[in-house]
Amino acid sequence: TAFTSPPLEALLVENIKLSRFTKPTPVQKYSVPIVAGGRDLMACAQTGSGKTGGFLFPVLSQSYLNGPAPATESRTAFDKKKAFPTALVLAPTRELVSQIFEEAKKFSYRSWVRPCVVYGGADIGTQIRNMDRGCDLLVATPGRLNDLLERGRVSLQNIKYLVLDEADRMLDMGFEPQIRSIVQQTDMPGVNNRQTLMFSATFPKDIQMLARDFLKDYIFLSV
Ligand code: AMP
Repeated sequence: TAFTSPPLEALLVENIKLSRFTKPTPVQKYSVPIVAGGRDLMACAQTGSGKTGGFLFPVLSQSYLNGPAPATESRTAFDKKKAFPTALVLAPTRELVSQIFEEAKKFSYRSWVRPCVVYGGADIGTQIRNMDRGCDLLVATPGRLNDLLERGRVSLQNIKYLVLDEADRMLDMGFEPQIRSIVQQTDMPGVNNRQTLMFSATFPKDIQMLARDFLKDYIFLSV
């Protein structure tokens, strides 16, 4: 088996080939058709399984097709700039979000999708300026994203794809309140009809509760 179009967009398949991935890993093989089919997903997968591609490939492929979301908030010249991403990936650490961001850049080459990354412990002004240059797919740690939401620099009302990566680690780090507040802000029934994907190495009770609260009619995948 190889990466093919369909179900993936032809340009994305080219970008995947450029990165010398010749065939999908098991998590990619199963997640692509599930997500391309519009379903929510709960995937149990370890680091090293190719789980980043497992969510980036179908999310980018659908995003390529959808095009940018129309501006939904009118803005005057005096308003501060605000990002309206259509895809959001939450992950626990600076290292992980940076890694996901690098892959997202690689796989959005020559497309309209502009990825950006925000995390704590770094200058927020620089991150805001980067977002101002365009932010369609946002990769973020929960604490820093909350800060940006409180400052009115990001709106989640256009979020069509929400990914929680390493959900078990995010809970271990105490991010549950921030995650719940963020997810609530992506909830625009009838407006954005969010599709949600959760990835976790383990599936304990607290992750099951998150899956129950955030996903609808989800498919459970264990690789
Ligand atoms: P991940 O589990 O997403 O962190 O991926 C682990 C490593 O496998 C990363 O270095 C990826 O670049 C690489 N990788 C992911 N998918 C593939 C693939 N289909 N073919 C070859 N390498 C891959």
